[in-house]
Amino acid sequence: EAVKPSNFLRQIIEADLDKGTYASRRWAGSPGDAAHHAAGEPDPAKIRTRFPPEPNGYLHIGHAKSICINFGLARDYGGVCHLRFDDTNPEKEDTEYVNSIKDAVQWLGFGWNNGGESNLYQASDYFGFMYRAAEYLIEAGHAYVDEQTAEQMRINRGDFGKPGVDSPFRSRTPAENLRIFREMRDGKHEDGSMVLRAKIDMASPNINMRDPAIYRIRRATHHNTGDTWCIYPMYTYAHPIEDALEQITHSLCTLEFEDQRPFYDWLLERLTEGGLLASPPPRQYEFARLNLTYVITSKRKLAQLVYDHKVSGWDDPRMPTIVGLRRRGYTPAALQMFAERIGVTKSDSWIDYSTLEGCLREDLELKAHRGMAVINPVKLVLTNWDEVMGAGHLEPCSLPALPHQNHEATQGVAEGTESPTRHFTIGKEVWIEREDFEEVPPKGYKRLYPGNKVRLKGGYVIECTGCTKDAAGNITEVLATVVPDTKSGTPGADSVKVKAAITWVGVTDGVNAEVRMYDRLFLDAQPDAGGKDFIESLNPNSLKVVTAIVEPSLANAKPDDKFQFERHGYFVADRVDHTAGKPVFNLAVGLKDSWGK
Ligand code: ATP
Ligand code: MG
Ligand code: MG
Repeated sequence: EAVKPSNFLRQIIEADLDKGTYASRRWAGSPGDAAHHAAGEPDPAKIRTRFPPEPNGYLHIGHAKSICINFGLARDYGGVCHLRFDDTNPEKEDTEYVNSIKDAVQWLGFGWNNGGESNLYQASDYFGFMYRAAEYLIEAGHAYVDEQTAEQMRINRGDFGKPGVDSPFRSRTPAENLRIFREMRDGKHEDGSMVLRAKIDMASPNINMRDPAIYRIRRATHHNTGDTWCIYPMYTYAHPIEDALEQITHSLCTLEFEDQRPFYDWLLERLTEGGLLASPPPRQYEFARLNLTYVITSKRKLAQLVYDHKVSGWDDPRMPTIVGLRRRGYTPAALQMFAERIGVTKSDSWIDYSTLEGCLREDLELKAHRGMAVINPVKLVLTNWDEVMGAGHLEPCSLPALPHQNHEATQGVAEGTESPTRHFTIGKEVWIEREDFEEVPPKGYKRLYPGNKVRLKGGYVIECTGCTKDAAGNITEVLATVVPDTKSGTPGADSVKVKAAITWVGVTDGVNAEVRMYDRLFLDAQPDAGGKDFIESLNPNSLKVVTAIVEPSLANAKPDDKFQFERHGYFVADRVDHTAGKPVFNLAVGLKDSWGK
């Protein structure tokens, strides 16, 4: 296997494994804690990463990057990666999203049963521990209950370059804070009337260190804990504790959390001092989030596209969600290749959409069966067919479904494996692409025009004789004669030299198929940059539905089967709408990069 290129995360992990940074880590928490039991007695020599989505929407291509990084590093270094639902916010979460996230992780090729452990967690299981940790912080003088209004708190927090102002409630005694915090827990105070704040430094140059709120009152039913709690931890407080309880070693997140790292470290230091957590605590490292041109990666904005019916759903093939990409024809291998190719860096940049498409093309090139489909059909009549071939004769033809594999087989590489073959027939009438006939050929045109010969791919050489037109002058049929004894694969095949072979489908065995021709969803490369309204950037022509005619092997596709429609691109039988009786294909990606055009 090829050596993976190094990156700053790999260097950090390798250094920690060398030094044995976590080899001496010992559990120090209360033995009753769910996470401790769930994780068993972790092997301290292993690295432990986690992917911690909030179950409030469907995952997108940016999450795929994070999944590949976290699960990929654990796999590569013999470690473990946890799938953790960060469900500490009671209002926005839903089990529909929980299930879709599990599906997405597994489909991408990863799982939470790794390192011989089941590593599926939900942060809400730690509410009890988080509460006890908050009581500890109060007792140790590190937290206080603040009754300022939200507005007062915002003003007193100050601004960059301007220190904040201490709350009048900041000097409460631990005993008083503990009493009121317990009242908060017991439902004695109104929602929003007070919060618990960490007591750090109101003059810190980092606003996040100016006594951040760590608990709020919220009478909301939680999907896991029901009405057990009317106070909920803030994300910035919950997240480091989740990592520590699960004995994560390297907590990897995107750059926007860099300013939160001092609080992450502050909190875990305090709780480690108090003997509540193992030492050394996990460490947070930030990497650049994925920005992809012509794509939006914000769950909130993607949700808006769904709820405003700009797309057909989360799994619309134009969506950058994992379900959307999957329905579009993307493969786990292509997305993993993409994650490898873009790498891990410490500074934000934009990745060109063609990079993603290139990965899919590369994956499908050797795997996708070939087939012929006529997307803009016109009928071609072989006027001498009945005379030279016999009236109504249908001649069986075939071509390899995987030309590359066939090539290898002839080289003896894949001996014993038979290359799959597609079968179809040719008769008096076939469908061809309208653009393959020109009454008056432009300079250099090699396809059908009166007097020119071409090959019908996998069939016969034919000679064009003209066309018929309707009253309005539109071409209704292209006319040609078949050159006998020139069938592909027979000794006479090369007896007549031609400059072009064109794709076609027999009128007798061709099958009508709905083909969804997708284009980019947005016209701007950065649809939501600089506060732009991304809705205005929607491409009105991002979907064109056409009726194509496909060869029988394509009509027999199963949902999710991928093909190369020769000369047109890669297509997938739609997972949702394709049936044997009514084939439906989605354009996954063209054969060539067209983004530069
Ligand atoms: P969104 O902003 O789309 O709602 P999020 O960051 O709120 O995404 P979470 O479910 O909280 O979504 O994220 C789970 C993990 O995925 C986090 O560790 C987050 O850093 C990572 N992630 C989210 N978006 C991207 C992205 N564009 N590139 C890389 N990682 C991402
Ligand atoms: Mg989030
Ligand atoms: Mg977010």
